[in-house]
Amino acid sequence: MKNRMYNMLLGMVAVLLLVGCQKYMPIDLAGGEVVKPDIDSDEFVVEKPEAESVPLPLDPKEAIDLNLKPNEMGKIMVLMYHNIGEEEADWVRTPENFQKDLETLYLGGYRPISLTDFATGNITTEQGYTPVVITFDDANENNFRILEDGTVDPQCAIGVLLDFHKTHPDFPMEVTFFADGPSAFGASRDEEEKINRVIELGFDIGNHTWGHANFKQASAEDIQREIGKQVLHLESMIHLDHYRVNTIALPYGSRPADDSLMEYLHKGTYEGMAYENLAILNVGSHPSSSPFDMRFDALSIPRVRASEMNVGSVGMYNFLDYFENHPEERFISDGQPQIITAPYGWEEFVIETDKELYLYSFPEE
Ligand SMILES: [Zn+2]
Repeated sequence: MKNRMYNMLLGMVAVLLLVGCQKYMPIDLAGGEVVKPDIDSDEFVVEKPEAESVPLPLDPKEAIDLNLKPNEMGKIMVLMYHNIGEEEADWVRTPENFQKDLETLYLGGYRPISLTDFATGNITTEQGYTPVVITFDDANENNFRILEDGTVDPQCAIGVLLDFHKTHPDFPMEVTFFADGPSAFGASRDEEEKINRVIELGFDIGNHTWGHANFKQASAEDIQREIGKQVLHLESMIHLDHYRVNTIALPYGSRPADDSLMEYLHKGTYEGMAYENLAILNVGSHPSSSPFDMRFDALSIPRVRASEMNVGSVGMYNFLDYFENHPEERFISDGQPQIITAPYGWEEFVIETDKELYLYSFPEE
């Protein structure tokens, strides 16, 4: 029995290797010589120059399967959650419904990436899949609850996520929790412990201002205090040396009425400390442009409400349907972070970038 298990495991590893490798690479499972087609022994090949035996560097484009219709100029959803609780409401998702959302995303070919990777265009999503960004505002207690025995409550957001990950390990645990004020996750005394545990689990902490501020009538000083004070508060607790709290979800999606103050959402100074946000998230209400599209603005990223209650026609499930019917508008990864692959027609919208642009025509059906 044990032996059979071992053989099965070995088989699975081999399959994983086959799937995981770029498909044009010769694969050497036995650890010995790579098996190649037997052209060397062909009697018609008289001689082979030395240089030919040196393998050429593989063009990463070769690994891109165009049948998967990669389109890295398509749109990406940044989902906005708030609470996980027993009763479904406008801003509350039950654990069961949250689990259903994850399952639906998973089966629909969506895979989470971090907000930072999204905003900076570092798309590492496996080819053929669509990146999705998951965010929670307010960092309420129901997002991360620790039970008396020290385990994570399976009914809180992180509990549901961890359980889901156990059965779906290829669904990355990338979620950002936006915290406001001095008691993230409902913890005043244990806030530091909770914040660090969330980061150790691989999740991210973002800024939701010190006092859940409405910036509409705020002054330059107000804005810098609200953002800077929360950066100082969070970063002073985080043990990981180089961890920066440099993404913000604007409470109420509010921005200063005075346009000249907008720059302080991006950069500012508070008590001698300079802050700079690399992503600023709004509240509504549609999928985002690709980070490779010149219409994308990391400092004004729209979000989609992950709810089924009073969402009008702009909730997560509406857009899942939309992309089902308009697959050509959906971001589909090529699996190569250094290459931007898209069908012809998108080139006029591509940002200036160091990445390689790979345009193609859709294969004949
Ligand atoms: Zn909020």
